[in-house]
Amino acid sequence: MDNQEIIKDERRTALVTGGSRGIGRAAALKLAEAGNNVVINYQGNEAAARETEELIHAACPDVGTLIVRADVSKEDEVREMVDSIMDAFGRIDILVNNAGITRDHLLLRMTAEDFDQVIATNLRGCFLLSKYAGQQMLKARYGRIINISSISGTHGNIGQVNYAASKAGILGITKSLAKEYASRGITVNAIAPGFIRTDMTDVLREDIRERILAEIPVKRLGEPSDVADAIVFLSRPESGFITGQVLGVDGGMGI
Ligand code: NAD
Repeated sequence: MDNQEIIKDERRTALVTGGSRGIGRAAALKLAEAGNNVVINYQGNEAAARETEELIHAACPDVGTLIVRADVSKEDEVREMVDSIMDAFGRIDILVNNAGITRDHLLLRMTAEDFDQVIATNLRGCFLLSKYAGQQMLKARYGRIINISSISGTHGNIGQVNYAASKAGILGITKSLAKEYASRGITVNAIAPGFIRTDMTDVLREDIRERILAEIPVKRLGEPSDVADAIVFLSRPESGFITGQVLGVDGGMGI
Protein backbone atom coordinates (compact mmCIF):
# COMPACT_ATOMS: atom_id res chain seq x y z
CA MET A 1 0.00 0.00 0.00
CA ASP A 2 1.34 3.39 -0.89
CA ASN A 3 -0.54 6.14 0.86
CA GLN A 4 0.28 9.73 0.06
CA GLU A 5 -0.94 12.90 1.68
CA ILE A 6 -4.47 12.96 3.05
CA ILE A 7 -6.81 14.89 0.78
CA LYS A 8 -10.44 15.48 1.67
CA ASP A 9 -12.62 17.82 -0.35
CA GLU A 10 -15.92 18.01 -2.18
CA ARG A 11 -14.68 16.43 -5.38
CA ARG A 12 -15.95 13.00 -6.27
CA THR A 13 -13.43 10.16 -6.05
CA ALA A 14 -12.88 7.68 -8.86
CA LEU A 15 -11.03 4.38 -8.46
CA VAL A 16 -9.58 2.90 -11.64
CA THR A 17 -8.22 -0.63 -11.28
CA GLY A 18 -5.22 -1.31 -13.52
CA GLY A 19 -4.88 2.44 -13.95
CA SER A 20 -1.16 2.42 -14.67
CA ARG A 21 -1.36 2.01 -18.43
CA GLY A 22 -3.56 1.50 -21.49
CA ILE A 23 -7.30 2.06 -21.15
CA GLY A 24 -6.99 2.48 -17.37
CA ARG A 25 -4.45 5.29 -17.72
CA ALA A 26 -6.64 7.10 -20.29
CA ALA A 27 -9.66 6.69 -18.01
CA ALA A 28 -7.76 8.00 -14.99
CA LEU A 29 -6.68 11.08 -16.94
CA LYS A 30 -10.12 11.84 -18.39
CA LEU A 31 -11.84 11.29 -15.04
CA ALA A 32 -9.41 13.81 -13.52
CA GLU A 33 -10.12 16.25 -16.37
CA ALA A 34 -13.82 15.82 -15.53
CA GLY A 35 -13.02 17.12 -12.01
CA ASN A 36 -12.76 13.91 -9.98
CA ASN A 37 -10.03 12.93 -7.55
CA VAL A 38 -8.47 9.76 -8.91
CA VAL A 39 -7.11 6.59 -7.33
CA ILE A 40 -4.68 4.73 -9.56
CA ASN A 41 -4.53 1.05 -8.67
CA TYR A 42 -1.70 -1.05 -10.04
CA GLN A 43 -0.43 -4.54 -9.44
CA GLY A 44 3.26 -4.60 -10.39
CA ASN A 45 4.56 -1.56 -12.24
CA GLU A 46 4.79 1.30 -9.79
CA ALA A 47 6.79 3.47 -12.22
CA ALA A 48 3.94 3.28 -14.75
CA ALA A 49 1.41 4.23 -12.07
CA ARG A 50 3.60 7.24 -11.17
CA GLU A 51 3.67 8.25 -14.85
CA THR A 52 -0.14 8.22 -14.90
CA GLU A 53 -0.13 10.37 -11.78
CA GLU A 54 2.33 12.84 -13.33
CA LEU A 55 0.14 13.15 -16.43
CA ILE A 56 -2.83 13.94 -14.19
CA HIS A 57 -0.92 16.51 -12.15
CA ALA A 58 0.35 18.21 -15.32
CA ALA A 59 -3.15 18.44 -16.81
CA CYS A 60 -5.16 18.98 -13.60
CA PRO A 61 -2.99 20.42 -10.81
CA ASP A 62 -5.95 20.79 -8.41
CA VAL A 63 -7.09 17.18 -8.57
CA GLY A 64 -6.13 14.80 -5.74
CA THR A 65 -4.49 11.49 -6.57
CA LEU A 66 -3.61 8.34 -4.71
CA ILE A 67 -1.62 5.36 -5.95
CA VAL A 68 -2.47 2.00 -4.39
CA ARG A 69 -0.82 -1.33 -5.10
CA ALA A 70 -3.26 -4.23 -4.89
CA ASP A 71 -3.94 -7.46 -6.74
CA VAL A 72 -7.67 -7.23 -7.52
CA SER A 73 -8.05 -11.01 -7.25
CA LYS A 74 -7.00 -11.01 -3.56
CA GLU A 75 -9.78 -10.26 -1.10
CA ASP A 76 -7.56 -8.89 1.70
CA GLU A 77 -5.70 -6.59 -0.69
CA VAL A 78 -8.95 -5.24 -2.15
CA ARG A 79 -10.32 -4.62 1.33
CA GLU A 80 -7.13 -2.81 2.37
CA MET A 81 -7.21 -0.72 -0.80
CA VAL A 82 -10.79 0.39 -0.14
CA ASP A 83 -9.85 1.24 3.48
CA SER A 84 -6.88 3.33 2.35
CA ILE A 85 -9.06 5.24 -0.15
CA MET A 86 -11.62 5.94 2.57
CA ASP A 87 -8.79 7.18 4.82
CA ALA A 88 -7.47 9.46 2.08
CA PHE A 89 -10.65 10.81 0.49
CA GLY A 90 -13.55 9.64 2.68
CA ARG A 91 -15.55 8.49 -0.35
CA ILE A 92 -15.62 6.31 -3.46
CA ASP A 93 -18.11 7.63 -6.00
CA ILE A 94 -16.89 6.01 -9.21
CA LEU A 95 -15.45 2.52 -9.66
CA VAL A 96 -13.95 1.49 -12.98
CA ASN A 97 -13.31 -2.26 -12.99
CA ASN A 98 -10.66 -2.16 -15.69
CA ALA A 99 -7.88 -4.53 -14.54
CA GLY A 100 -7.71 -7.48 -16.88
CA ILE A 101 -5.40 -10.11 -18.34
CA THR A 102 -5.40 -12.56 -21.22
CA ARG A 103 -3.92 -16.07 -21.42
CA ASP A 104 -4.97 -16.93 -24.97
CA HIS A 105 -4.81 -20.49 -26.32
CA LEU A 106 -7.03 -22.77 -28.35
CA LEU A 107 -9.09 -24.80 -25.90
CA LEU A 108 -7.13 -28.04 -26.16
CA ARG A 109 -3.90 -26.19 -25.35
CA MET A 110 -5.45 -24.07 -22.59
CA THR A 111 -4.47 -25.27 -19.13
CA ALA A 112 -6.79 -25.16 -16.15
CA GLU A 113 -4.33 -22.66 -14.71
CA ASP A 114 -4.75 -20.35 -17.75
CA PHE A 115 -8.49 -20.54 -17.13
CA ASP A 116 -8.30 -19.94 -13.38
CA GLN A 117 -5.87 -17.01 -13.62
CA VAL A 118 -8.03 -15.12 -16.10
CA ILE A 119 -11.23 -15.76 -14.14
CA ALA A 120 -9.48 -14.72 -10.89
CA THR A 121 -8.29 -11.34 -12.18
CA ASN A 122 -11.09 -10.40 -14.57
CA LEU A 123 -14.19 -11.83 -12.89
CA ARG A 124 -13.35 -12.36 -9.21
CA GLY A 125 -11.63 -8.96 -9.25
CA CYS A 126 -14.80 -7.30 -10.55
CA PHE A 127 -16.83 -9.13 -7.88
CA LEU A 128 -14.51 -8.15 -5.01
CA LEU A 129 -14.25 -4.48 -6.01
CA SER A 130 -17.98 -4.21 -6.59
CA LYS A 131 -18.54 -5.70 -3.13
CA TYR A 132 -16.10 -3.62 -1.08
CA ALA A 133 -16.24 -0.31 -2.99
CA GLY A 134 -19.98 -0.87 -3.47
CA GLN A 135 -20.40 -1.11 0.30
CA GLN A 136 -19.16 2.49 0.61
CA MET A 137 -21.44 3.61 -2.24
CA LEU A 138 -24.41 2.01 -0.50
CA LYS A 139 -23.68 4.02 2.65
CA ALA A 140 -23.48 7.20 0.56
CA ARG A 141 -26.52 6.21 -1.52
CA TYR A 142 -24.61 7.23 -4.64
CA GLY A 143 -22.29 5.49 -7.05
CA ARG A 144 -21.26 4.76 -10.60
CA ILE A 145 -19.80 1.32 -11.32
CA ILE A 146 -18.37 0.84 -14.79
CA ASN A 147 -17.17 -2.63 -15.71
CA ILE A 148 -14.86 -3.14 -18.66
CA SER A 149 -16.08 -6.23 -20.52
CA SER A 150 -15.12 -6.94 -24.14
CA ILE A 151 -16.51 -7.77 -27.55
CA SER A 152 -15.09 -11.24 -26.79
CA GLY A 153 -17.58 -11.43 -23.93
CA THR A 154 -20.56 -10.41 -26.06
CA HIS A 155 -19.61 -12.34 -29.22
CA GLY A 156 -16.98 -14.95 -28.22
CA ASN A 157 -13.55 -15.26 -29.83
CA ILE A 158 -11.30 -18.07 -31.02
CA GLY A 159 -8.50 -18.73 -28.52
CA GLN A 160 -10.23 -16.86 -25.74
CA VAL A 161 -12.55 -19.34 -24.02
CA ASN A 162 -11.21 -18.24 -20.61
CA TYR A 163 -11.20 -14.50 -21.38
CA ALA A 164 -14.63 -14.55 -23.09
CA ALA A 165 -16.10 -16.46 -20.13
CA SER A 166 -14.70 -13.86 -17.73
CA LYS A 167 -15.98 -10.97 -19.82
CA ALA A 168 -19.43 -12.56 -20.27
CA GLY A 169 -19.45 -13.17 -16.51
CA ILE A 170 -18.85 -9.45 -16.00
CA LEU A 171 -22.07 -8.80 -17.93
CA GLY A 172 -23.89 -11.10 -15.48
CA ILE A 173 -22.49 -9.14 -12.55
CA THR A 174 -23.40 -5.84 -14.27
CA LYS A 175 -27.03 -6.72 -14.93
CA SER A 176 -27.65 -8.40 -11.57
CA LEU A 177 -26.00 -5.66 -9.54
CA ALA A 178 -27.77 -2.96 -11.55
CA LYS A 179 -31.06 -4.46 -10.35
CA GLU A 180 -29.78 -4.91 -6.80
CA TYR A 181 -28.50 -1.33 -6.45
CA ALA A 182 -30.95 0.60 -8.64
CA SER A 183 -32.98 1.97 -5.76
CA ARG A 184 -29.84 3.17 -3.91
CA GLY A 185 -28.62 5.78 -6.38
CA ILE A 186 -25.97 3.44 -7.78
CA THR A 187 -25.79 2.62 -11.47
CA VAL A 188 -23.88 -0.36 -12.85
CA ASN A 189 -22.98 -0.47 -16.53
CA ALA A 190 -20.53 -2.31 -18.76
CA ILE A 191 -18.46 -1.20 -21.69
CA ALA A 192 -17.54 -3.75 -24.34
CA PRO A 193 -14.51 -2.44 -26.23
CA GLY A 194 -13.57 -3.92 -29.59
CA PHE A 195 -9.88 -3.81 -30.56
CA ILE A 196 -8.11 -0.96 -28.80
CA ARG A 197 -4.43 -0.08 -29.31
CA THR A 198 -2.74 -0.98 -25.99
CA ASP A 199 -0.02 -3.33 -24.67
CA MET A 200 -2.72 -6.05 -24.68
CA THR A 201 -3.19 -5.85 -28.47
CA ASP A 202 0.35 -4.77 -29.42
CA VAL A 203 1.39 -8.42 -29.08
CA LEU A 204 -0.87 -9.46 -31.98
CA ARG A 205 0.81 -10.57 -35.21
CA GLU A 206 0.62 -8.12 -38.12
CA ASP A 207 -1.52 -10.48 -40.27
CA ILE A 208 -4.02 -10.92 -37.42
CA ARG A 209 -4.13 -7.16 -36.91
CA GLU A 210 -4.90 -6.69 -40.66
CA ARG A 211 -7.66 -9.30 -40.47
CA ILE A 212 -9.22 -7.56 -37.49
CA LEU A 213 -9.02 -4.17 -39.22
CA ALA A 214 -10.98 -5.56 -42.17
CA GLU A 215 -13.83 -6.41 -39.76
CA ILE A 216 -14.10 -2.94 -38.23
CA PRO A 217 -16.62 -0.76 -40.14
CA VAL A 218 -14.97 2.46 -38.87
CA LYS A 219 -11.69 1.15 -40.43
CA ARG A 220 -9.33 1.83 -37.57
CA LEU A 221 -8.38 0.26 -34.25
CA GLY A 222 -9.76 2.10 -31.23
CA GLU A 223 -7.65 4.32 -29.00
CA PRO A 224 -7.71 4.12 -25.17
CA SER A 225 -9.28 7.59 -25.19
CA ASP A 226 -12.28 6.23 -27.18
CA VAL A 227 -13.07 3.93 -24.24
CA ALA A 228 -12.18 6.56 -21.63
CA ASP A 229 -14.72 9.00 -23.12
CA ALA A 230 -17.46 6.37 -22.74
CA ILE A 231 -16.35 5.75 -19.13
CA VAL A 232 -16.59 9.46 -18.32
CA PHE A 233 -20.07 9.61 -19.88
CA LEU A 234 -21.34 6.76 -17.68
CA SER A 235 -19.59 8.20 -14.61
CA ARG A 236 -21.47 11.49 -14.68
CA PRO A 237 -24.27 12.22 -12.17
CA GLU A 238 -26.46 13.04 -15.20
CA SER A 239 -26.22 9.42 -16.39
CA GLY A 240 -28.30 8.22 -13.43
CA PHE A 241 -31.14 6.83 -15.57
CA ILE A 242 -28.79 4.51 -17.46
CA THR A 243 -28.14 1.22 -15.68
CA GLY A 244 -27.56 -2.43 -16.52
CA GLN A 245 -26.47 -1.51 -20.04
CA VAL A 246 -23.65 -2.77 -22.24
CA LEU A 247 -22.12 -0.06 -24.37
CA GLY A 248 -20.06 -1.28 -27.33
CA VAL A 249 -17.03 0.89 -28.11
CA ASP A 250 -15.87 -1.07 -31.11
CA GLY A 251 -16.05 0.97 -34.33
CA GLY A 252 -19.15 -1.01 -35.29
CA MET A 253 -17.44 -4.43 -35.10
CA GLY A 254 -20.16 -5.87 -32.87
CA ILE A 255 -23.13 -4.81 -35.02
P1 NAD B 1 -3.28 -3.51 -20.42
O1 NAD B 1 -2.68 -4.88 -20.37
O2 NAD B 1 -2.51 -2.40 -21.05
O3 NAD B 1 -3.75 -3.05 -18.98
C1 NAD B 1 -4.32 -3.90 -18.04
C2 NAD B 1 -4.08 -3.33 -16.68
O4 NAD B 1 -4.61 -4.22 -15.68
C3 NAD B 1 -2.61 -3.14 -16.37
O5 NAD B 1 -2.43 -1.89 -15.74
C4 NAD B 1 -2.31 -4.29 -15.41
O6 NAD B 1 -1.26 -4.01 -14.53
C5 NAD B 1 -3.63 -4.38 -14.66
N1 NAD B 1 -3.78 -5.66 -13.96
C6 NAD B 1 -3.66 -6.90 -14.46
N2 NAD B 1 -3.86 -7.81 -13.50
C7 NAD B 1 -4.13 -7.12 -12.35
C8 NAD B 1 -4.42 -7.49 -11.02
N3 NAD B 1 -4.50 -8.78 -10.66
N4 NAD B 1 -4.63 -6.52 -10.10
C9 NAD B 1 -4.55 -5.21 -10.43
N5 NAD B 1 -4.29 -4.80 -11.70
C10 NAD B 1 -4.07 -5.75 -12.64
O7 NAD B 1 -4.65 -3.74 -21.16
P2 NAD B 1 -5.78 -2.73 -21.70
O8 NAD B 1 -5.90 -3.03 -23.14
O9 NAD B 1 -5.58 -1.35 -21.25
O10 NAD B 1 -7.04 -3.40 -20.98
C11 NAD B 1 -7.82 -2.77 -20.00
C12 NAD B 1 -9.15 -3.51 -19.88
O11 NAD B 1 -9.84 -3.42 -21.13
C13 NAD B 1 -8.98 -5.00 -19.60
O12 NAD B 1 -10.01 -5.43 -18.72
C14 NAD B 1 -9.19 -5.63 -20.97
O13 NAD B 1 -9.65 -6.94 -20.86
C15 NAD B 1 -10.22 -4.70 -21.55
N6 NAD B 1 -10.29 -4.73 -23.00
C16 NAD B 1 -9.22 -4.38 -23.78
C17 NAD B 1 -9.33 -4.43 -25.17
C18 NAD B 1 -8.21 -4.04 -26.08
O14 NAD B 1 -8.37 -4.21 -27.29
N7 NAD B 1 -7.10 -3.52 -25.61
C19 NAD B 1 -10.53 -4.85 -25.74
C20 NAD B 1 -11.59 -5.22 -24.92
C21 NAD B 1 -11.46 -5.15 -23.56
